[in-house]
Amino acid sequence: MKKFKKVLVANRGEIAIRIFRACQELGIRTIAIYSKEDKYALFRTKADESYLIGESKGPIEAYLGIEDIVQLALRKGADAIHPGYGFLSENPMFAKRCEDAGLVFLGPKSYMIESLGDKIKSKSLAKKAGVPTIPGSEAPLKNEKEAMEFAKACGYPIMLKAAAGGGGRGMRVVHDEKDMINAFRSARNEAKKAFGIDDIFIEKYLEDPKHIEVQVLGDIHGNIVHLYERDCSIQRRHQKIVEFAPAITISKEIRDSICRDALKTAGALKYESAGTVEFLVDKNQNHYFIEMNPRIQVEHTVSEMITGIDIVQSQILIGQGYPLHSKEIGIPSQKSISTRGYAIQCRVTTEDPSNNFAPDTGKINDYRTGSGFGIRLDGGNGFTGSLVTPYYDSLLVKIISWSRTFEDAARKASRSIKELTVKGVKTNDGFLINVLNHPTFLSGNCTTGFIDDTPELFH
Ligand code: ADP
Repeated sequence: MKKFKKVLVANRGEIAIRIFRACQELGIRTIAIYSKEDKYALFRTKADESYLIGESKGPIEAYLGIEDIVQLALRKGADAIHPGYGFLSENPMFAKRCEDAGLVFLGPKSYMIESLGDKIKSKSLAKKAGVPTIPGSEAPLKNEKEAMEFAKACGYPIMLKAAAGGGGRGMRVVHDEKDMINAFRSARNEAKKAFGIDDIFIEKYLEDPKHIEVQVLGDIHGNIVHLYERDCSIQRRHQKIVEFAPAITISKEIRDSICRDALKTAGALKYESAGTVEFLVDKNQNHYFIEMNPRIQVEHTVSEMITGIDIVQSQILIGQGYPLHSKEIGIPSQKSISTRGYAIQCRVTTEDPSNNFAPDTGKINDYRTGSGFGIRLDGGNGFTGSLVTPYYDSLLVKIISWSRTFEDAARKASRSIKELTVKGVKTNDGFLINVLNHPTFLSGNCTTGFIDDTPELFH
C-alpha cells in the first residue's frame, strides 16, 4: 500500500471540494489548481495549497494543460491526481502521462479509458461480454450514402451519435429519410468541434426510454462490485437534471439483471476505480447498454446516500492499492452492500428556464441554503458576493435529499429548494420544484421525454 501524503485535484467547483473533503477525512493534504478567471472562486480556499495555472491560457484551457498540471504535481510533491469529471477526466493521454510520471491517476488505467472513450468500441466490448446493446452500425459511417443505407436498414426513427460523444453533444434524432443528410452533416460538424473526432454511428432510436445506470467500483486486485442503480431519466437535451436511487419502478428481477450486466461489462475490462455503466430501458423493460463512463459522475451522491459507501474515498483508497475487502474500504463482498431508503439529487443551475435555460451570470448579492435533516448540499461556487462567470458550466449547488420513502425525499428536496435564496442571478429553482411535485415524477415513471412533454413544468 502506498499511503498518499498529497493529492492534486485537476478540477474546479463543487467536485474539487467534494474530493478535498474526501482527502481531508483520510488525512491526506490537498492541492488545488485554479485559472486566473477562478482567482476569487471558493473551491481553491478549501484546499491546503492552491496554485494559479495556465496564466497565458483561456479559462477552460487552463484546466486542460496536461504538462503544466503534471509538472506542478511533481514540484509540489503530490502522490496522485484526481481528475474529477469533465476537463481531463476521460483523457487517456492525461492518465498515461500521470502513470509515466510516477503519479497515481485516481481513475482507471489509461488503456481502460481508451477502450471506453469510443462508444462504438465500448458497445462491441459489452456485446462480446454478452450484454444487450441497441441495434445499429458497428463501425463509423464512411459517408452520407452509407449513413442513408444504414438508417433505412435500421428503420426510422434512428439516432445519430458521435463515437467520441459526451454531454449530449453530436447527437441527432432522425424521424424521416428526408432529414437524414442534414442531420448527419450537423452531427458530424458538432462532433468535430466538440471532440476533434467526427466519427458518427447509427442506433435505433428508442421512444421514451428510461435511463438507468449502475455505479461500479473495482480494485487493482480484480475485485469488482456494483452499488446498485440510479434513475437518470429526467433530462433536458440529453443532459441529466434530477437523479434518484434506487429506480423505484424497476422490478427486482430487472434490477438484478441490469446490475449483473453492469458487472459483466466492467469485468470484461477488469475495471479499476469508480465507473458507471449506462443503460436505456424500453417500455417492455428490456435494457440495453449505451456506454460506460470511466470517472466519478455528478450524480454519484445518490448512490452514496443509499449505500453509505463514500465513492470518492473508495477511489482514493483503491489508488493506494487497498482491496475492496480491506477494513479501510470496507466492502467484504457484493452481498455486504445493501441499500436503505431513497435519495434524490437536484442540480441547481444558474440558468433561466423561462428563457430556454440561457445561462445567467453576474454577482450573487445574497446566498442562503436550506439544510436540515435529510439534506446534503454539494456546492462550491455560491456565496454572498460570489461571481458567476460565463466560462464554466452553470452548476451552482447539488441538493441531495434522503429519506425512508421516495415521497418524503421529494418533499425534503422541495423544502430545501424553497429555502434556497439566490439574489442577483437567475436559477432553475422554480422549475426543479415543479418537477419534484409532478405526479409523474412522484410515480417514478418519468422517461427521457418527460421535460419536453410536460410544458406545465415551466410555469
Ligand atoms: P452522452 O455520452 O453524450 O451523455 P449517452 O450515450 O450517454 O450520451 O446518451 C445520453 C442520453 O441520450 C440518454 O440518456 C438518452 O436520453 C439519449 N439516448 C442515447 N441513445 C439513445 C437511443 N438510441 N435512443 C433514444 N435515446 C437515446
